[in-house]
Amino acid sequence: MGITPSIIKNYFFMLSYNEAFSLIKEQFQNLKLESETVKLENSLHRTLAEDVISDINLPPFDNSAVDGYAVQFDDSINEWEMIGEITAGNFKDFDLLKNQTLKIMTGAKIPNVCTAVIPIEDIEVHDQKVRLSIGSKYFNGMNIRRQGTDIGEGEIAVEKGTFLKPRHLSSIASCGKSEIKVYKKLKFGILATGDELIPVNEKPEGDKIRVSNVYSLLGEVSEVNQEVINYGFVKDDRDKIKEKVNNILSSDVDILLTTGGVSVGEYDYLKDIFEELGVKKIFWRAYIKPGKPCYFGKIMKGNKTKLVFGLPGNPVSSQVNFKVYIKENINNLFGKQNTEQIEAELLNDLRKKDKKRHFMKGVLKKEKDKYFVTSKFSQSSGNMVELSKANCLIVIEEEHLDPKKGEIVNCIPM
Ligand code: AMP
Ligand code: MG
Repeated sequence: MGITPSIIKNYFFMLSYNEAFSLIKEQFQNLKLESETVKLENSLHRTLAEDVISDINLPPFDNSAVDGYAVQFDDSINEWEMIGEITAGNFKDFDLLKNQTLKIMTGAKIPNVCTAVIPIEDIEVHDQKVRLSIGSKYFNGMNIRRQGTDIGEGEIAVEKGTFLKPRHLSSIASCGKSEIKVYKKLKFGILATGDELIPVNEKPEGDKIRVSNVYSLLGEVSEVNQEVINYGFVKDDRDKIKEKVNNILSSDVDILLTTGGVSVGEYDYLKDIFEELGVKKIFWRAYIKPGKPCYFGKIMKGNKTKLVFGLPGNPVSSQVNFKVYIKENINNLFGKQNTEQIEAELLNDLRKKDKKRHFMKGVLKKEKDKYFVTSKFSQSSGNMVELSKANCLIVIEEEHLDPKKGEIVNCIPM
């Protein structure tokens, strides 16, 4: 049959970064998250799978916002007789006359008759006589926190889909929920492949290297608050890889990340193995650097869709792929705010001769109100120590060639 134009087109065809990202985004948006119940104290950085509705008014009663003196407001009065005291949690009702006052503490319930609380700081006390300090003023309703002004009974205090920060937890607690429904974390499985790999605690000899890339990926998954299982590594042995991948896809893992063996080399078996196991290819390779050979597919297991990423083996490539393809989608799915890209002025020329989208290692710093970025790194996708010294990825778009010192570029902080 020979090499036909369609074979050539298929071989060279590559998606742009935006196209690849959209295809991944679509699949993440279609994932159905399950929910589970957790104790409120374990719910930080989880995502609410239910609206939290207040079972009471908040505050539940009119109360004082300060330590002070409760009075019936009357412009013409600035001196009172003290007849009692109310502390928080120990309410006692008083029939207060206009020329009488009660000492009251922050959060204490206020008798109905009182219409203002004058702060302690604005009062002078002589025996049982209380006087408004010279120069101080008071007004109707002063320092009274009215019942239900934070939220009314039956209203939604925290909405379904909220990514829970410390600030949400007291609101939920006030609504009487000691347990809440949150979305279950997605379970990631990570499997490295390569004949050259040895465990980290061994010293490589000859042509072996330590299996380093999985550790950054484990970190990436944990950083987006998802669950992860490290399946270690397998040699470039078709049957062994197939067996292992099949086992992982048959387990309760939702998203499989493999590394290595997904390029065009003779021993790059992953694509074929995925196909043989019933994974539907969505794309293979996008025109980006680093991380061009990246396989993305999905497979139905029961009524569940599982996503499969065949990431390249280079530690920089696999990690950059995670950052630019997966992280934002996980955050969106779980209602977590994404880190904004930062515009910065380039402090040195960069070399970019092709029309891929590049994600270059850079060092971002802020001086006064302006960001600057440098990159003296080699940009080799094997140099993971360089990546660890960088604190951002500089995004250089497709048509932008050889960026020059002084130009403004977008940076993804990391
Ligand atoms: P591959 O994607 O299999 O072609 O591998 C690309 C490069 O990444 C090669 O130089 C590999 O030796 C290296 N590599 C592959 N897997 C790993 C790994 N798990 N950790 C570190 N480097 C790796
Ligand atoms: Mg390999």
